[in-house]
Amino acid sequence: MRGDLHIHSYYSDGLYSPAEVIKRAAEAGCEVVSLTDHDTFDGVDEANEAAKSLGIKNVTGAEISSYAGTKVHILAYGFSRTDSRFNSFIKEQKKRRRERAEKILAKLSDYGMPVPPSELGSCVSREISRPHIALAMVRLGYEKDFMSAMKKWLLRGAPTYVPASGIEPEVAIQEIRSAGGLSVLAHPVRIELDSYEKTALIKRLAAAGLNGIEAVYKRSSRASVKWFRELARSLGLFVTAGADFHAERNEIIARPQNNPVVLL
Ligand code: AMP
Ligand code: MN
Ligand code: MN
Ligand code: MN
Repeated sequence: MRGDLHIHSYYSDGLYSPAEVIKRAAEAGCEVVSLTDHDTFDGVDEANEAAKSLGIKNVTGAEISSYAGTKVHILAYGFSRTDSRFNSFIKEQKKRRRERAEKILAKLSDYGMPVPPSELGSCVSREISRPHIALAMVRLGYEKDFMSAMKKWLLRGAPTYVPASGIEPEVAIQEIRSAGGLSVLAHPVRIELDSYEKTALIKRLAAAGLNGIEAVYKRSSRASVKWFRELARSLGLFVTAGADFHAERNEIIARPQNNPVVLL
């Protein structure tokens, strides 16, 4: 069975609507998909409807940001969207995301590049990621293109970089579990740790109730897929596959405004 359990829409930092990305996944032969926007499940109804009309299955999903000395993303699947504790948790996650964005904007302002919050639009559900800021910087003429804005100002090592922080991955796993969901370590290949530290982290998360690892990730080498598959097997975890699709090019979230983002 073909599937893609890691897809973004314009409910976070993807370019397309849930209906559009799911149609693309179906055209690419997927029978099962999961819309996994960053720290939100606001697009899930639309994703379910689109999947149903195409005769495929959308698994309820989200990608939860966490931090263990480095950025760690946990994919959440099959959780209850009406669970009140999980809803409060997601609300807090959204708040932390906005607080980080505010810090970045304050730093950019100090560097003479003010970005008014009204420029961060095109994010339907107000979940702001660094790409939204990068695109605003291009529109305001501070940088020539998306990747220059990301590299020079927003990624690690840049003067106005604000490190990720947030909850421990164990907390994310616990919250997902308490809402009846399964948790999967997103893109382990991208975690910025050496292989010894990465193995230790994955063991720690497995002990905390992690259910799976996204061993098959876009552009991963065969060797890395094998490495993560074997580690998963040894820890009793399942493996998943995801493309982490945002858009074809880097110019993500460049589409016309939907709702303006309001930073609070
Ligand atoms: P944030 O959630 O605010 O930390 O923003 C992270 C998002 O930025 C990721 O989900 C990617 O969509 C994008 N991103 C991170 N690193 C890069 C990179 N090196 N090049 C392009 N996009 C990136
Ligand atoms: Mn993203
Ligand atoms: Mn991620
Ligand atoms: Mn992702």
